[in-house]
Amino acid sequence: MNTALSEASAFSTDDERWTAVLNRDMSADGAFFYGVRTTGVFCRPSCASRFPRRENVDFFSSADEARAAGYRECKRCQPGGLPRELEIVNRACAALDADPQQRLTLAQLSEAVHVSPFHLQRLFKRVVGVSPRQYQAAQRGAALRDSLQRGVDVTRATVDAGFGSPSRMYDTAAAELGMAPSDYRRKGAGLRVRYASAPTSLGLVLVATTDKGICKIAFGDDPAALADELGKEFASAELIDDPARLAPFIDQVDAYLRGTRQRFDLPLDIAATAFQQRVWEALRRIPYGETRSYSQIAEAVGSPRAVRAVASACASNPVALAIPCHRVVQKGGSLAGYRWGIARKAMLLDTEAHHEAKDAGNTTPPIPDMDHAA
Ligand SMILES: [Zn+2]
Repeated sequence: MNTALSEASAFSTDDERWTAVLNRDMSADGAFFYGVRTTGVFCRPSCASRFPRRENVDFFSSADEARAAGYRECKRCQPGGLPRELEIVNRACAALDADPQQRLTLAQLSEAVHVSPFHLQRLFKRVVGVSPRQYQAAQRGAALRDSLQRGVDVTRATVDAGFGSPSRMYDTAAAELGMAPSDYRRKGAGLRVRYASAPTSLGLVLVATTDKGICKIAFGDDPAALADELGKEFASAELIDDPARLAPFIDQVDAYLRGTRQRFDLPLDIAATAFQQRVWEALRRIPYGETRSYSQIAEAVGSPRAVRAVASACASNPVALAIPCHRVVQKGGSLAGYRWGIARKAMLLDTEAHHEAKDAGNTTPPIPDMDHAA
């Protein structure tokens, strides 16, 4: 009953903090950091490096505070990096993504990421919004979409995607694809697609455009893999690597990630089913810096029961940022999935949270109760 109270007061005294350090208590990660005067380095409580002497330790409530006091980040526990729990979930997702055909049990997965099954299940659900098992089912759907886009025949594609048998796949395919699999082909024949990739604070971005508008904005870690993915999606198109032509678009992405731009002046040229179109339009109406739940979007498009179809439409968004699918989160606030990785979604929402929305009436900010107080 008083868990909120005890959590709030956990690690609030230096004694509690020091005990957490001596226990390498992972649950304290994020709650505070400690700096070691003799080395000038600061760490997470769970850091595996040698224990410092108590008299050489300073405690800080944030990484920024430690840096401001002149400490450098520990290379071992990387206290300025992602929160440890996001790293764990990222590693779990990577393990599940590695081979969608293989069905990993929770026990196998927990062994792969070195976290207890109980802890992993809870953490995964909290961050992603679904269990590892549900996540895997969704990934099989995505693998199926990919195969079909490449033009692999339906029977082969379903087996490759780990569905086991085509009949089994047809049960779930309508929900995953929004239409019959044999109809699912991205066009591209006769199109000229220009593209370029560039490094950003979120990793590499690839932007591609037809003569009519942007057809793809994707994030990744490997330029060859990004270009490869584009090549598969537009298998019949003529692809031209054209950094000069794409430079202004990439500049817009860059400005967005730095928080100096909040809207894109980009015409879009993307293929969508009627339902995707409704969902994507609803996403574009979410103001900068705000989030909505999947069920709110389902309501906004007039299909309040189609929450899963909304999630699927978000996951198939071809243009990161321009259609801000990162602003849709789970009802309780957990991040749910993101086509380009949960960590990127977390960073995008963080950037938006730290920059005031420019088109939300900031010229006349409300000044609550000041007149009455005076
Ligand atoms: Zn450390």
